[in-house]
Amino acid sequence: MKPNHSIHDDVAYQFFYRQKWPDGFLCPSCGHRQAYTIHSRVRSLPLYQCKLCRHQTTLTAGTILEGSRTSLFKWRKAIELVSTKASVNAVQLAALIHVTYKTSWKILNKIRHAISDLDNERRMAGYVTGGVVFYGRPPYVYFRTKREHPLWVSCAQERQVRRDHSFEDNCGLYVKIKCLTDKDLDGQKLTYSGEKKLFEEHLESHALGSTLNRVEFRRDPFLHPIYCEAKNWINDTFKGIGRTYQQHYWDEYCFRLNYMHSDTPLIHILTSICMKNISYFILNAHVSS
Ligand SMILES: [Zn+2]
Repeated sequence: MKPNHSIHDDVAYQFFYRQKWPDGFLCPSCGHRQAYTIHSRVRSLPLYQCKLCRHQTTLTAGTILEGSRTSLFKWRKAIELVSTKASVNAVQLAALIHVTYKTSWKILNKIRHAISDLDNERRMAGYVTGGVVFYGRPPYVYFRTKREHPLWVSCAQERQVRRDHSFEDNCGLYVKIKCLTDKDLDGQKLTYSGEKKLFEEHLESHALGSTLNRVEFRRDPFLHPIYCEAKNWINDTFKGIGRTYQQHYWDEYCFRLNYMHSDTPLIHILTSICMKNISYFILNAHVSS
């Protein structure tokens, strides 16, 4: 560490190191466990050179933190805040970690991208129920409007079809909220090809998917409350959002919902995702399917 680094940065460095390399250094090129550590005046982070293949890497190489001029301490704080139920918006984060709005927005955007990548890798198993809803539609309006955004809200009950009984509490449920395009819809209904595309992208091949009609969706004890809570969080925290980045906000909400009952604290899971060390709990999530 450079001499002008604070003790907070050293603690944060150790924190990120443990999430990226829980069993000690691992060469990303050849898998060797030992490296020389090279400190430099020009670089803020030490360089590791693999003792076997000489590949050089740093703690943040290949992660969303790579190339960032924001300190690790501030990154850790941002990840910690996104791991809380209320999460944080860019204005709040900028004030809390003393960075510009632009930097704060970029940090949050990168964290959300990492979450979306994780969710796109994760397919749902078991019984999957989904329904269509229109975000941004005024109350008591029953026809399509210009400013609304169609969504597919889905929930997998994975416990029922898994033979392993290790899942407890809420761990057998997995929720996804995905933005739809007009091509996926015929009026207010999902088309056959729209449904097929969603199932192919988000369900495992042996999963059983079904789509509820609008009345069934509103009466569903899981899906409708999940959607309402997600929508309220987005409206309260961000005062509504446009189409471009909307998917990442729904993914962020679902991420907390899906992993909050995990044995591993949410901040550790999120840090692992940001450090690209996602294999261990992706594998765990699929272990009994
Ligand atoms: Zn190597």
